[in-house]
Amino acid sequence: MARVMIDCRKMPSETNCSLTIAGTEEEVLKAAAEHAISTHGHADNPELREELRGQLEPAEAAMA
Ligand SMILES: [Zn+2]
Repeated sequence: MARVMIDCRKMPSETNCSLTIAGTEEEVLKAAAEHAISTHGHADNPELREELRGQLEPAEAAMA
């Protein structure tokens, strides 16, 4: 299965977070939502997941 990644550096954030999460789309969305909530104080709602989904991109070669 193709892996995707999400790069927290590209998310609107004031903490200069450098985390990158890679995995299946389902794994990345779950981990990224938990990270956004626990680390960045986002509310857990459908809007957050839609925002995260829009930030998914193909995993870079080093992470595929
Ligand atoms: Zn982050």
